[in-house]
Amino acid sequence: MAAILLDVDGVFHVSHEPIPGGAEAVSRLRADGHRLRFVTNSTTEPRAALAEELRAMGIELDDEELQTTPRAAAAALAGRRVLALTMHAIVGEFEGVELVGEDAEAVLVGGADETPETNLVFSFMNLARAFHELEAGAELYCLHKNRWWQTKQGPLLDAGAFVVGLEYAADIEAIVLGKPSTAYFEAALQALDADPGMTWMVGDDIESDIAGAQKHGMRTILVRTGKFRPDAVEATRVRPDGIISSIAQLPDWLEEHG
Ligand SMILES: [Mg+2]
Repeated sequence: MAAILLDVDGVFHVSHEPIPGGAEAVSRLRADGHRLRFVTNSTTEPRAALAEELRAMGIELDDEELQTTPRAAAAALAGRRVLALTMHAIVGEFEGVELVGEDAEAVLVGGADETPETNLVFSFMNLARAFHELEAGAELYCLHKNRWWQTKQGPLLDAGAFVVGLEYAADIEAIVLGKPSTAYFEAALQALDADPGMTWMVGDDIESDIAGAQKHGMRTILVRTGKFRPDAVEATRVRPDGIISSIAQLPDWLEEHG
C-alpha cells in the first residue's frame, strides 16, 4: 500500500472533458488500499466546485482530499493586505486575507483560465499596479509559475509569463505557493502522514509534477495525457520512474512495479 498524490488537470480531464478510465482507476486504487490525495495547481475554481466537477465525472473523493492553491494562499497570507490578480471565482477561498487595491504587503498572481476574464485580470493596468506595489516593498507570491497548460484547443499561455515579467521588472523573486514548491508537497505528505520515499506523484507535467516531486524524494509516474509531450521528456534529464498511457493504467502498473 502506498500514498499517491494525483495531479488533476491533464490527468483526469482536459478542458473539463474527462480522460477515460479515471473514475475506475480511483475506485480500484482505493479498493487496493492506497491512500490518495488530489494535488492540483488549478487556480480558477473554489475547491468545492472542483471536487463537485470531479464527482460528476464519477470520481469518488471528499472535498478534504483535494488540495488547491487558493487555499494554500489563504494559509500563507492570512492577516495580510494583498493585491490579488486572480480570477474572481476563487476570491471566496482567501479566508482571512485582506484584499486591497493599494498599499499592499503582498501581490498575489493567480493562473489564467480559458475565459475573457483573463484579459481583465492580467490587463496592463493591473500589472502596472502590481509593479507599483512591488516597487513600494510588497512581496510577490504566485499560485504557480506554469508556462502553459493543455486545453482542448491546444496549448494556452499560462500566468507564469506574467509572474516572470513582474520578477524581471521589479528585480525580485516570486514565492511559489503551488507545485513544485516544498510547502505544497509537504502539506500533501503531511495530510496523508506519508513518507516521501513511499509516495508516488502522478502527473502530466514533467517540471511541476515529476521534477518537483523527485526533488522531494518521491517516486514519480508521468501520464501521456494532458500536457505530456514526448519531445519534452527527451529534452530533459528528468526521468520519471514510470510512464503510462493514462491514469487508467495506474492500478495495473502499481500492482506490477509498486
Ligand atoms: Mg496537470
